[in-house]
Amino acid sequence: MKNKRAVIVQCRLSSTRLPGKALKELGGKCVLSWVLNSMKKVDADRYFVATDFESYDTLAPICKENGFECFAGELDDVLKRFCDLIKKIKVSTIIRATADNPFLFYEAAQASLDEFEDRQRSKKKCAYLTFTGLPHGSGVEIIDAQALLQAAEQTDNPYDHEHVGPALYNHKENFVCEFIKAPSRFYNPELRTTIDTYSDYLRAVSIVNYLGAPKENKRKWAPYTTEQILDACKSDFVLNPIVYVPSVTKGQGTGHLHRCLNAAIATNGFVYIPKDSTLSEIPSILMEYKEKGLVQSQIIDEIPDQTFSPVVVTDCFKLTAEQTKAFYNCKKLISLDEGSDNHEYCDYLLDIIPSYDCKRLPNTFDTSYIVKPVNVRNTKSLNIDKVLVCIGGEDPANLTVPAVRALSRVLPGAKITAIVSDLEKYRDMVHIDFTGPVENLREKIYEYDLVVTHYGLTAFEAAFAGCAVIMLATTKLHEKLAQKYNFAFIQGKIDSEKMQKALESENLHPTLQLSHEQKSLGECLKRLSAGSRLLCPVCRKQPEEPDPVISRNNGRTYRRCKSCGLVYMSFSAEEEKEYKKAYFFEDYKKQYGKTYQEDFDSIKAQCVRRIQTIRMLQGNAEGKNYLDIGCAYGPSLAAAVENNLNPFGTDISEDAINYVKNELHFPACCSAFPDMDSEKEFGISKFDSISMWYVIEHFKDLDGVLTKISQIIKDGGIFAFATPSGEGISAKSDLDHFYTISPTDHYSIWEPHRAQKILERYGFEVVKIVSTGHHPERFPSIKDSQSQKDSLKWKLVDKYSRLMQLGDTVEIYCRKKPRKTGGK
Ligand SMILES: [Zn+2]
Repeated sequence: MKNKRAVIVQCRLSSTRLPGKALKELGGKCVLSWVLNSMKKVDADRYFVATDFESYDTLAPICKENGFECFAGELDDVLKRFCDLIKKIKVSTIIRATADNPFLFYEAAQASLDEFEDRQRSKKKCAYLTFTGLPHGSGVEIIDAQALLQAAEQTDNPYDHEHVGPALYNHKENFVCEFIKAPSRFYNPELRTTIDTYSDYLRAVSIVNYLGAPKENKRKWAPYTTEQILDACKSDFVLNPIVYVPSVTKGQGTGHLHRCLNAAIATNGFVYIPKDSTLSEIPSILMEYKEKGLVQSQIIDEIPDQTFSPVVVTDCFKLTAEQTKAFYNCKKLISLDEGSDNHEYCDYLLDIIPSYDCKRLPNTFDTSYIVKPVNVRNTKSLNIDKVLVCIGGEDPANLTVPAVRALSRVLPGAKITAIVSDLEKYRDMVHIDFTGPVENLREKIYEYDLVVTHYGLTAFEAAFAGCAVIMLATTKLHEKLAQKYNFAFIQGKIDSEKMQKALESENLHPTLQLSHEQKSLGECLKRLSAGSRLLCPVCRKQPEEPDPVISRNNGRTYRRCKSCGLVYMSFSAEEEKEYKKAYFFEDYKKQYGKTYQEDFDSIKAQCVRRIQTIRMLQGNAEGKNYLDIGCAYGPSLAAAVENNLNPFGTDISEDAINYVKNELHFPACCSAFPDMDSEKEFGISKFDSISMWYVIEHFKDLDGVLTKISQIIKDGGIFAFATPSGEGISAKSDLDHFYTISPTDHYSIWEPHRAQKILERYGFEVVKIVSTGHHPERFPSIKDSQSQKDSLKWKLVDKYSRLMQLGDTVEIYCRKKPRKTGGK
């Protein structure tokens, strides 16, 4: 036989889920070109695309360009298609791939071919061989050509004929078929690189954007290596793709679209523009951004599904209820300048343009993200010679004409320019200088002495450029906003008298109390998109409607679970802490001014009191087995021994456990609770008492922790924990400040009076609550009067704090309820 090996790539254009996917554009090439370019790296004698008759004419040129021959056969009987080709070219081995994986591991394909050929030479000859555990859809099959011809003769099962491999591996009694676990370098069964759906296609676009597209005009390019593909698949870029959703509704201006396109270029994100959007400027704006590096595949008209669940960033002015519900079901929802009542759905709210909204607080309000003009005026001009009227976008309230009329009466000598989106509409008004949308207006705005606009980005850009600004306030809201940020404004109907007054306003040159710093919105969104949405640690389920927001701050969002009442961190953009040595030394020192070990004796003294409370609740029996979870360097274990308990400790820090075992000589094990086998570690299946001192708030999966504790505690046993209180004076006097300074690794905040409801789920009954951490100096009355420690007022407040349980920390003691037995 002359030709030994043939690569055959199976391809058709009539895919049902994603029609024509082989031709879809990816980094300047079509998907099929990527596949062929990769498969060309496999060492073979002939290279074929096997397609159906109908697709032949379209595919033949692409095959030729990539050094492949094109063969047409049956559409549905793929097995026959392959057999016809084999008979025609007379090869002995087939390397079969499909046309839907542009990032197949060609190295794995070559390795499986080598493995197959090794077997053919030895006594382990097989008819079929493939690697398992490759990324989904990345598989390549090595087939003995003669065996396949034989198999086709022997089967008339329709399924066998619609495919290729099953004719062999579904008939293992006749053919030796090998499924071999892929070498570890290729073994990544959790990944998906195939293109079967629209979401898959967008993932492929992200991978290309991450790794870089082949150079233009280059016919041959090096396919990505396995390591490159894996690196891309595991990057934030691909795992947390951003889909921007700007408002593209007529009447809401083009600012939203501009902002999203800029951010999309910076983050390689996608921009969602629905087919039915009514904004007429879209095509010209897209052209402008393509020159700045935007690629066509970044513009999408469908929100990808769960298989490529995106981070949605909305810039919509006001989200509709329908939109918010859909986006809430994506991975994360971040909203810019969101003005609707649906903001509870948003994981994160970022306000950039100041808004007058007393109903909600954002996570971040920062005008540094407004792109400020580089070109600015050096001096305020006293004469107004050049005026710009710019209402933005569509001018739905028709403000342009009355504004221009009033201006030309009040400033007869000035040159007035008005920017409008539809020049046709103003064709008859020859005495005014109308112009269409101005590209890069931000950098031209400084040329004008006065800018007349409505509330929005242009007003702030003009102010930053040093122009005089008059705002046209169409609504009560805009009026308030203009006032709040010290802009001269005209309220209601525009006439020359009002225009004259506005020109005389002391706010004509607004002195903005705003940040002049320039921050990158793209960088900020990159950081936020890598953040995590978190579930209630007890219920562990995303509710259909979002839980109500308790507090938002720069790094985090807190909600109250509707189901169990716990306050939990629902979004965090902050890095996760690792409980290594540094946690007990540097981090602890930062917070408390001394290391944990330096503090050992005072912590131990606290523990003695807590242990005595446990003993008291247990009826002071001797020799009870006591487990401290998160025991750290063992202060509570030392306190337990002094009070005649048998201490056992567990902690995630290996260093701390070594100290407990080697220095204090207490039984202890290093474990990530609840992954701990107490029977195996200590020979104890149930403890008399269990404690967690300032540990419970650190668990993301509290359900697993409380379930385990419930299992390893005796009936009637005492479970006690200490934690910051969400009902102490700090939380009560300034809730947002309390949550802002709450450590980033505290996933739940306990409110003593709600604890019972949560704990009873696990069979516990709260028997004692001790309010601790009393700080009179944190009470507003002491703060305001600057009363000294030991003053009468101080003492009274201290007493009040204890009486009302307003301490900033709390100890909660509960008893495991004996399971009810029959008859009682
Ligand atoms: Zn809950």
